[in-house]
Amino acid sequence: MFDLLVAGATLPDGRTGMDVAVSGGRIAAIAPRIEGEAAERVEAAGRLLSPPFVDPHFHMDATLSLGLPRLNRSGTLLEGIALWGELKPLLTVEAMVERGLRYCDLAVSQGLLSIRSHVDVSDPTLRTAEAMIELRERVRPYLDLQLVAFPQDGYYRSPGAVALLARSLDMGLDVVGGIPHFERTMTEGAASVEALCRIAAERGLPVDLHCDESDDPLSRHVETLAAETVRHGLQGRVVGSHLTSMHSMDNYYASKLIALIGEAGLHVVANPLINITLQGRHDTYPKRRGMTRVPELMAAGVNVAFGHDCVMDPWYALGSGDMLEVAHMAVHVAPMTSREGLRAAFDAVTVNGARAIGLAGYGLAVGAPASFVLLQAADPIEAIRLKARRLLVVRDGKVLARAEPQTSRLSIPGREGVVDPSSYVPHAAG
Ligand SMILES: [Zn+2]
Repeated sequence: MFDLLVAGATLPDGRTGMDVAVSGGRIAAIAPRIEGEAAERVEAAGRLLSPPFVDPHFHMDATLSLGLPRLNRSGTLLEGIALWGELKPLLTVEAMVERGLRYCDLAVSQGLLSIRSHVDVSDPTLRTAEAMIELRERVRPYLDLQLVAFPQDGYYRSPGAVALLARSLDMGLDVVGGIPHFERTMTEGAASVEALCRIAAERGLPVDLHCDESDDPLSRHVETLAAETVRHGLQGRVVGSHLTSMHSMDNYYASKLIALIGEAGLHVVANPLINITLQGRHDTYPKRRGMTRVPELMAAGVNVAFGHDCVMDPWYALGSGDMLEVAHMAVHVAPMTSREGLRAAFDAVTVNGARAIGLAGYGLAVGAPASFVLLQAADPIEAIRLKARRLLVVRDGKVLARAEPQTSRLSIPGREGVVDPSSYVPHAAG
């Protein structure tokens, strides 16, 4: 007797008509037709069953604060930074936990069950760290929340940041963060990368830096990050987030750099929604897009994932916890609209993110935790096209969220009927 049986699903690897049986919180079997009773049976009817979405780059301490204490009128990074500075003294632990819980409700409804959040640890009260640690415990039964100690105002530029970063790690934050391009000089930026990698090596922690989030083609801290990763033996545990300066770099230098990134086993996280809105803001026309070189990094074998970065906060008024919206923007910005590219974008919001943040037991496999999402779409590319509804969200065998399929009933004379957007599919290829 199984606890749950999802019947007739399409899997991300392309297998169709597959049943997935769940027992004791784990996947007991994956096969075309599984015999046996189940406490609950869900008919997938050919829809896509995917591992949960992963957001490897987010700012949970700021999310859902849009409008506090005022709106970002210009929508620029600079006004966003100023606004965050006005908001920080007003933040309370209770309000941050409450907003975090509300965001995690939204995330779960979107099948997003693992989030790595950068936590601004530049305020001496460290209220942000306290709140996010409490939130991590509160959501632990249903969502993985990893916390990065992020010296947002600069590790060397902001007085006291060196000690605050250490204190926040002592409190129990999980990952060492940084922002080398925001230090006063290139030299201090490089020194911060060296110091932060050393701290990570000493404490046995991963590293995730906001790195080169700039349109300056000479912002090359990722080169130092790759070198320090190798020097400290941190291969596989280091993420370079944003890397937007790579968009503007000289092609010859970029070709050397991509090889170094690969050699160091760096993971790369692009944040397409934010990169396309915050980069290129000093340009008139043509306007640069600012997202890092995703297809080229992928072609070189580098693990590239996409992050949401912001939802309804001082920097970004939009967003809905939908990693398919993130992938949808990425394929436009990159652009990566080849069949291979579209398919790779789905990996970038699922399995690649899991690899980047070191999730254990991720994926649809017999014996793995029964965590998955049933989408109202026929396959990964259709899921991105439709930003498909999440019909069923399951974690460790427990159903966390359910939704009815999205449909609409027409009352046009002669065209009456029910419209199911997911029934509009490509014609079978010859
Ligand atoms: Zn960020």
